[in-house]
Amino acid sequence: MEGPSIHLAAEQLRPFVGRRVTRVSGNSRIGIQRFRGKTLKDIFAWGKHLVFQFDTFALRVHFMLWGTFAATVKGTSVTGDYRRSGPPRLVLDFANGEITIWSASLKLIEDADARCDYDFTADIMSGQWDPKAAFRKVRAFPREEIADVLLDQTIFAGVGNIIKNEVLFRTRTSPFQRAGRISDRQLRAIVADARVFSMRFLELRRVFALRKNLEIYRRSTCPNCGGKVYRRVHGERGRRSFFCARCQKVPKGRLAIPADATFRAGARARRPSAASRRSTTSPRNGRQAVSPRSDRRDSS
Ligand SMILES: [Zn+2]
Repeated sequence: MEGPSIHLAAEQLRPFVGRRVTRVSGNSRIGIQRFRGKTLKDIFAWGKHLVFQFDTFALRVHFMLWGTFAATVKGTSVTGDYRRSGPPRLVLDFANGEITIWSASLKLIEDADARCDYDFTADIMSGQWDPKAAFRKVRAFPREEIADVLLDQTIFAGVGNIIKNEVLFRTRTSPFQRAGRISDRQLRAIVADARVFSMRFLELRRVFALRKNLEIYRRSTCPNCGGKVYRRVHGERGRRSFFCARCQKVPKGRLAIPADATFRAGARARRPSAASRRSTTSPRNGRQAVSPRSDRRDSS
């Protein structure tokens, strides 16, 4: 799930704020019985994190690649069409309904105000999002491919592989382009569109119309020129890019790299990525970062 979906989740789960957890179940081993009898004080999203704040601690949920959730309020589903499978990791029952979470990474944060641990200026969906700061941070990694930089959760928290691909297509940028070779004007356009497209993603997600409105992600034909859409796994993160070679001016040499299946297996294993060598999230107040390395990958 990408940032806009997490943002929407926080919105959908509002009816549980101020309510007490009456029953807890699930196969998580983080000590979930601790939630029983506790009142949920707040729910918020940061990047791809969904955070449930209790009195002296918080639960941080990261849906990774396959995680999903569902909730009902007074017997009616409030979460729509997410796919689900297997035994739940966590079920929280309240007097007015329940929240069920599958296949997500759960972590307890010992903090009575976990919001303070997060830098909301880096959150693409936040009212505090700071495009100038993002621009400066990108400039610190001139040798990285722009497709990798867009997935860096310390710069663009919430951007996942769908947003990355759509933004690069909308701004007619090659995913292979080194960040340092992108002009100031073009980079400003990319940073601006990361926000604009994320907001559009949210609106489309609300009405279950996201997939059919994507222009390049998992498409076969370019909606602009009618050319072929290529797909390649590349970069330090080994994530897949979808692109139109003509509209995004991808050099011919880049089209000759191995197809996804042969490239994928070794992409991450070969050496530590530039991303993992860097520090994780930028916490405020000198507190310990709460963003694990896994956050730097992406989920749709
Ligand atoms: Zn095209």
